[in-house]
Amino acid sequence: MTRTLISGGLVVTAAEETQADVLIEDEKVVALTAPGLGLTADTVIDATACYVIPGGVDAHTHMELPFGGTFASDTFETGTRAAAWGGTTTIVDFAVQSMGASLREGLDAWHAKAEGNCAIDYAFHMIMADVNEGSLKEMEGLVGEGITSFKLFMAYPGVFYSDDGKVLRAFQRGAETGGLIMMHAENGIAIDVLVEQALARGHTDPRYHGEVRHALLEAEATHRAIALAQVAGAPLYIVHLSAIEALAEVTAARDAGYNAFAETCPQYLFLSTDDLAKPDFEGAKYVCSTPLRPVEHQAALWRGLRTDDLSVVSTDHCPFCFKGQKDLGLGDFSKIPNGLPGVETRMDLLHQGVVDGHVSRRRWIEIACATPARMFGLYPRKGTIAPGSDADVVVYDPAATQVLSASTHHMNVDYSCYEGRTVTGAVRTVLSRGRVVVDAGEYRGSAGHGRFLKRDTCQYLR
Ligand SMILES: [Zn+2]
Repeated sequence: MTRTLISGGLVVTAAEETQADVLIEDEKVVALTAPGLGLTADTVIDATACYVIPGGVDAHTHMELPFGGTFASDTFETGTRAAAWGGTTTIVDFAVQSMGASLREGLDAWHAKAEGNCAIDYAFHMIMADVNEGSLKEMEGLVGEGITSFKLFMAYPGVFYSDDGKVLRAFQRGAETGGLIMMHAENGIAIDVLVEQALARGHTDPRYHGEVRHALLEAEATHRAIALAQVAGAPLYIVHLSAIEALAEVTAARDAGYNAFAETCPQYLFLSTDDLAKPDFEGAKYVCSTPLRPVEHQAALWRGLRTDDLSVVSTDHCPFCFKGQKDLGLGDFSKIPNGLPGVETRMDLLHQGVVDGHVSRRRWIEIACATPARMFGLYPRKGTIAPGSDADVVVYDPAATQVLSASTHHMNVDYSCYEGRTVTGAVRTVLSRGRVVVDAGEYRGSAGHGRFLKRDTCQYLR
């Protein structure tokens, strides 16, 4: 047995802040004790003047996702390593069903990509691209295997798109099986008309990506998704919510007592259409869907995080290199692969939100660790520091400053959305199931340490 003691830090969880030492035996937390008891351990980690926080849980990543004729540039190996560097110790990635294929075939393919390659623990949601009798039937078996959430798209006609009938049927099966339906809520049919019209007018620059994906088309789809979920008696989880108008729909549903949940992402809290409008095709670096919004949406999203109308901050990490991938859309914004890098910078950016006074320290841990773990059936194994929890622990220096840059990040992508931005706070030491994987600027983890996590169903519905 190996004993590790993390001493002298302020333990911050979603529930409380305590000056305590954390005792770890092998892969588990066994005790939080009063500081300075003089307990013996094989390794003592000094956390004086630091926070001791649960490892981050990023419930929305797309390693190696095939999209727009290319693949997201982080593999499970590089992407989970970058996550560890940034203090995230669990990801929930999306396995993809191909048109005409079963959920099983998609899931098997994603297991093969991830197995033996991950630096941290991982789980899967399942993207349902082809909703039919067969795939609806398969949902129950997948829930039993720990794949307890299913993502549908009201966007991307001809690729991932499901019409309202398919969406309704998926919600009905979700209600029957306990599977949580996650929704990409944008009216893709209307957006495609606006794309065609914009291109015909010669509006080909990246900024038009934001204009055609109108905030009202996010709000309309969010409203429709909530209504269809209600009709089916199912909960739902809206992914990457970015617009004030969409947040209003979620807020109204929650006020009416429905199980409507939503996440936002750091890019919507820190970036805006000003970035998308950068000249010389630079705006392509900021093309993602839902799109970045005008800067005034940011304050509303922070407010939603404070009021719990937004429950989770995930990254939607889906990186494409500026050279060789984003440039597929030179002269036609609709061909720019959709997605941004972010798995490494989420914990730091949200800590900056604490520094800036947008959220409290405990709320930081709640939206980045505890709630995503509960939402997707991983709590209290993940998302907190308590006896019996996995020893996924981060020693975080709240006073350190760092400059975010592609020249120092570990994601396999040639740019940073936050190039040159100074943030306060930095990860010092990261443990994944009791093993130190990052310490003092050195990576000590290994591909294959990370294990597949079989998830329980959503823990907010019981
Ligand atoms: Zn996504």
